[in-house]
Amino acid sequence: MTTACVREVGLRDGLQLTATRLDTETKLEWIRRQAAAGFREIEVTSFVPPKLLPQFADAAEVVAGANAVADLTAVSLVLNLKGAERAIAAGARHLTYVVSASEAHSQSNVRCSTDEAVARFPDIVALSREHGAFVGAAISTSFGCSLQGHVAPEQVLAIVAELSRMGAGEITLADTVGYASPTAVSALFTAAAGQTDGPLAAHFHDTRGLGLANVVAAADAGVRHFDASLGGLGGCPFAPGASGNIATEDCVYLLENLGLATGVDIDAMLAVRNQLDRWLPGETLYGKLALAGPARTFAVAAAG
Ligand code: ZN
Repeated sequence: MTTACVREVGLRDGLQLTATRLDTETKLEWIRRQAAAGFREIEVTSFVPPKLLPQFADAAEVVAGANAVADLTAVSLVLNLKGAERAIAAGARHLTYVVSASEAHSQSNVRCSTDEAVARFPDIVALSREHGAFVGAAISTSFGCSLQGHVAPEQVLAIVAELSRMGAGEITLADTVGYASPTAVSALFTAAAGQTDGPLAAHFHDTRGLGLANVVAAADAGVRHFDASLGGLGGCPFAPGASGNIATEDCVYLLENLGLATGVDIDAMLAVRNQLDRWLPGETLYGKLALAGPARTFAVAAAG
């Protein structure tokens, strides 16, 4: 297979941490323009209580608007059954349920143990299936956690097996705080592939500069689905000033250079990235491609 999918997560992972709030129409404009640049999958919002994250209070409207965009899979993040019910009621067709591999992160994020969070998944699968929605799962802090430090790979692999058995259509291993290394990525994704028949996706943060190196390691391990955030929007809640998700534009450029066709129009993508500067004045954006542009010798990978 010579294609890869970059899933834009800036509207969720990015906006979750920015001080600037985007109004619903601007979010939809972003979604439409990025879809027009060739992106087939965008994580558009998170169904969390608006009291906790007011920037996602318009989740239902964003999903409705994104569903109207042709050839786009609009992904909604959910943290519990209540969120899944709200997402389904809003017409969401693709849900991602998040659990933390780190006990400390799970307790702090959703106030329950990792086992309890995993045990909640079957109800979300049942609800999604009842409404014909796709449901995947993401395992945050898969490579380590700023609260508890080490996260045992065996723990992550056991969760992969369990979520897969429960019906996850895809499982994302997320390096939520930038602890992963190419060596760890290679080992964990290779072992995880033995725990599930379904596809694996990678979610890397560039907190310590290893984000793109981790993409190479994951691609070598057979991963073809990568989360990324336009302009690396989002930062890191545990390290003020540090970068967040890997930048979408750099990830696309890297994958194309590896011979993996993303279907993305580079110039159109960079135009959306430049627009982000205007939509979010004062927010720090990251990424190299937007500064230098593609090399003169660059050619996009051919799908085949
Ligand atoms: Zn993230």
